[in-house]
Amino acid sequence: MGNNEESTFRDRPINIDKTGKRQWIYARQPKGSWYTRRRFFALFLLSVLAFAPFISVDGHPFMLLDIANRRFYILGLSIYAQDTYIMALVMASVVVFVVLFTVVFGRLWCGWACPQTVFLEMVYRRIEYLFEGNYRSGKKPASTLRTIAKHMTYFVVTVIIANLMLNWFIGPKALFRIMAEPVSEHLVGFLFLIAISGAYYFIYAFFREQICTMVCPYGRLQSVLTDSKTIMVTYDYKRGEPRGSKQSGQCINCNRCVSVCPTGIDIKNGTQLECTNCTACIDECNDVMKKLKRPPNLIRYTSVSGIETGKNSIKSARTYAYSAVLLVLLAILSVVLIERTPIDTTVLRVPGTMFQMATADTVSNMYRTKIINKTHVGHHLQIRIPDAPFANVELISGKEYIAGNEMIETIIVIKINKADIKKKSTNFEIGFFDGNQLLRKSKINFLAPH
Ligand code: SF4
Ligand code: SF4
Repeated sequence: MGNNEESTFRDRPINIDKTGKRQWIYARQPKGSWYTRRRFFALFLLSVLAFAPFISVDGHPFMLLDIANRRFYILGLSIYAQDTYIMALVMASVVVFVVLFTVVFGRLWCGWACPQTVFLEMVYRRIEYLFEGNYRSGKKPASTLRTIAKHMTYFVVTVIIANLMLNWFIGPKALFRIMAEPVSEHLVGFLFLIAISGAYYFIYAFFREQICTMVCPYGRLQSVLTDSKTIMVTYDYKRGEPRGSKQSGQCINCNRCVSVCPTGIDIKNGTQLECTNCTACIDECNDVMKKLKRPPNLIRYTSVSGIETGKNSIKSARTYAYSAVLLVLLAILSVVLIERTPIDTTVLRVPGTMFQMATADTVSNMYRTKIINKTHVGHHLQIRIPDAPFANVELISGKEYIAGNEMIETIIVIKINKADIKKKSTNFEIGFFDGNQLLRKSKINFLAPH
């Protein structure tokens, strides 16, 4: 490496010069089969973002993250704050899956599915190309008017994206209602939306690739998760070196792979944390190889060990261990989901009460119940105590019918003949039934004057 910029590439981020000033990256638009695949995949992901909250199953949302009411609809399944163990298991499974996936495929997620890349490369960068053209020489485009128009379009698109995201948290009905009503009635929500839009605009118009190269913790984790067997976008140095048009290697050192790189790196310098595996350099180099009538894939998805040995293998102690942990977590999650009761109940003694003598021979205890229906199906509830058929359960306040996804509160009184109670304090299990179907059991404590 004769040139100073090449020899200092590991001393500082590529987008910062030696005085510490930001070096703006003007990446050219890639063209080729990988870029086409990524465009279709991004279109699919953007469609999911835009349309998933509008889908309903049996009149209920397919996807809704209703944080305000601590209620989540995920793939049509309703999950409540009470189901924290399910959420914890899902989160743990996702984390282990991401770790396993990264060990095997590196930053594949970053290049294909991360919202940061999808928005930056497939939305904002394309708007940029539209207004400022393709960057032929990595230079700043001249026209100020076009730049102003670009930023205005950025802002409009950012507000649309912020609204689409809000739709995931409040649902389309609430979103359209907020849009139709005066701003003064939703001032806090409106200010929140402006703040989110402002943050997105700053990230995509100015901060850009620095999220991937400096801020994102997942990017930083690559150094511990990837190894020589990890399959990622890699330059075949065995085939390419020594590089140069008059050298025996197949790389002619045209640097077209660098000109399309959204993080500004040179993949020929080897695997780097800044590489998001976006595949732009594969397409660009394949075009060069085609023109030179040389075989494609001088840059390709492979591993360092694959280049060394000519064979990729994802088998390692780490992949086996992570796969085993993931399988165990998924097995537990499946059991928990199968065993999940359709309703959730909390039964507590009414504060300040012990027991009452309903008649000279009958003792009564009063309880407050909170019942959440976690399904989309309504239930006619009867409360019985299977182990104490002599007990009489009366509904004092509240209703017997609970609609799908509804939460109700009731007051019940349990009356038992004094002769049937042997102790001062007796534990019972009360059952919540719909006909003969037992929906849920809850433990209670019954007090009597013995
Ligand atoms: S595009 Fe291909 S041939 Fe040109 S410098 Fe990059 S790796 Fe070498
Ligand atoms: S080196 Fe290639 S795959 Fe990596 S970010 Fe740059 S263009 Fe994308």
